[in-house]
Amino acid sequence: MNNSWEDNVRRVVPYVPGEQPKETDVIKLNTNENPYPPAPEVRAILDSFDESRMRLYPTPDAAELTDAIAERYGLKSSQVFVGVGSDDVISMAFLTFFNSDKPVLFPDITYSFYDVWADVYRIPYQTKPLRADLTIDPADYKCENGGIIFPNPNAPTGVYESVEMIEDIVKANPDSVVMIDEAYIDFGGESCLPLIEKYDNLLVIQTFSKSRSMAGMRIGFAMGCEKLIKYMNDVKFSINSYTMNTVTQVCGAAAVRDEKYFRDTVQKIIDTREYSKKKLSELGFMFPDSMSNFIFASPHKKSAEYVFTELKKRRIFVRWWDKPIVRDYLRISVGTREEMDKLFAALEEIING
Ligand SMILES: *Cc1c(COP(=O)(O)O)cnc(C)c1O
Repeated sequence: MNNSWEDNVRRVVPYVPGEQPKETDVIKLNTNENPYPPAPEVRAILDSFDESRMRLYPTPDAAELTDAIAERYGLKSSQVFVGVGSDDVISMAFLTFFNSDKPVLFPDITYSFYDVWADVYRIPYQTKPLRADLTIDPADYKCENGGIIFPNPNAPTGVYESVEMIEDIVKANPDSVVMIDEAYIDFGGESCLPLIEKYDNLLVIQTFSKSRSMAGMRIGFAMGCEKLIKYMNDVKFSINSYTMNTVTQVCGAAAVRDEKYFRDTVQKIIDTREYSKKKLSELGFMFPDSMSNFIFASPHKKSAEYVFTELKKRRIFVRWWDKPIVRDYLRISVGTREEMDKLFAALEEIING
């Protein structure tokens, strides 16, 4: 057989997300989902949604949701770009802004989708090692580059960097776009969002998947100066305009308007995280301080792989990667207090039993 068409295939090694087990009687602490339901108004909307609205195309710029986000963050709607999850937003941002022969920079230990997007879009990149304490060294990001991206707090480490440190990097790179992926910023860190008024090369990306309990709805957004947002919309409207469906736009807008529910939910997770840090320390785990809804912890009395496998046998899912450095750690999402207590009972048995 002549398979020469395969010579022209855009070959990529895809991103591997955490497992979504089919069983429902599991404790799922492997993909940083929020253990609480979305804001109550989302339920009300789904109960009464007028299905004749589905006859019509959605607004291509997700106007209702974009406006609600702009209002919540004190911005103009023209400073907000909405996408189908922040994965969609970041992918669009890569395509729009990382278009140079110089390498894009990101940490060697970080969100494992960045190198996948760089590969699929043929963007050259260079990774920069984290310091021994898993922090980012800003000096690494002051060389020639085609753009910069990292999460703050970083994933999967949970380590938070200050707004001053981010400003230092943004200021040093006026000739490239710096993207800060704030997927976990609501869990105690300070957002660098105010810096967008001062720097036109800063794009701040957030998501409804973690702090707003809507991973299944797929809502992400980017905030920046009007020019950055316009360039992103130009690319988006050149590929597929109607990416976000009407129901999602309306539910997302309702969720972002319920500030009290948001704050209460986030606080519950922060409290459980702090409790979990104490418990993990008692069990002999070592971990960098986390400002996210997960803890990146090394069991050190037993191998992380062994603990991962034993937890899975007990239907408790956490995340483990068979890669250098990170293979000594488990990334444990913060669930409810009850879920965490079941985890700690199992860990006690696995580690000290
Ligand atoms: C979860 C996550 C995202 C993607 O979230 P979406 O569900 O696509 O909004 C982006 N960046 C980091 C670092 C994440 O952990």
